Amino acid sequence: MPPIDLRSDTVTKPSPAMREAMLSAPVGDDVIDVDPTVVALQERISHMLGKESAIFMPSGTMTNQIALRVHCSPGDEFLCETGCHIYNYEQGAFAQLSGLVARTITGDKALLDVADLEGTVRPDNEHSVRTKLLCIENTHNRGAGKIYTLERTLALCGWAHSAGLITHMDGARLFNAAVASGTSVREFSERFDSVSVCFSKGLGAPVGSCLVGSKAFIAKARRARKLFGGGMRQVGILAAGALYALEHNIDRLAVDHAHARLLAETIQQCKGLRLADGLPDTNIVIFHVDKELGTAASFNESLNKSGVLAMAFGPQSIRFVTHLDVDREQILQACQIIRSLTS
Ligand SMILES: *Cc1c(COP(=O)(O)O)cnc(C)c1O
Repeated sequence: MPPIDLRSDTVTKPSPAMREAMLSAPVGDDVIDVDPTVVALQERISHMLGKESAIFMPSGTMTNQIALRVHCSPGDEFLCETGCHIYNYEQGAFAQLSGLVARTITGDKALLDVADLEGTVRPDNEHSVRTKLLCIENTHNRGAGKIYTLERTLALCGWAHSAGLITHMDGARLFNAAVASGTSVREFSERFDSVSVCFSKGLGAPVGSCLVGSKAFIAKARRARKLFGGGMRQVGILAAGALYALEHNIDRLAVDHAHARLLAETIQQCKGLRLADGLPDTNIVIFHVDKELGTAASFNESLNKSGVLAMAFGPQSIRFVTHLDVDREQILQACQIIRSLTS
């Protein structure tokens, strides 16, 4: 029996229908001029998010880092939540590649509020870096897939703009936030100057992210993409997978959310396990393992041996992520395995 792979929503494989769409995509040289399938994807996503323009890139790391690079200059600082992807999982590329400083602020249950940000904009003098931008991650990965509600993001953007800051959203899982909350991706994006979304997470495409924003901003991002080595030629083959995902795999994210809830409810009932942040908002479940049961690494190994793959997320914490390649039957089986390891 193949293992039930809950390590990440990036482990999904393109379905036969998605591969078919990729195989038959019209293509062109997207660096010399344009690739028609890439253009179709960029138009579709900019329309969905309510922005003027969009650009396709190989990864969410690149869309995030190019957003920072274009919005900011060396010696600028941006504000972000302590657990965010941009700060923790991108090798500090903003410092290595763009000369930027990050100021991390710890939110309540990993989410920032306006009150957390008061007083963080530095005075304009020659001793200080210049506070330039606020970055919000929706949903928040290390925050167990928690959603920033529309109300909260509006307040944060309102605060940032009135403080003269630019706003960027790392929306790698923005579609999960939209499906779970009923707020559209367009509403969520409206007040942000730029937004990054990933097609290779819950949407199930093999590769790719888009960065969206104003025409002038995207023109600069295109230059930076070439600089970072992200100019790709007949890349419509990949964009076709992303287009297929947008057409077929958004609404079904609700299934992944229901599956995450089943796992979380099981964990709640197991002695020695405790949810990090209550029941999940979306498709990520993070839980603590009591020392009596061992470490996260040893408990994870027991899970693996029983056929469930997970990710140790800290010395005593483990992450499950649900996705379109795991069905309900496998989730129920995983629940059974978790129960058997804790009773
Ligand atoms: C996955 C992810 C990214 C981008 O990751 P890549 O692997 O570079 O595509 C950015 N932000 C968050 C929150 C993510 O989960």
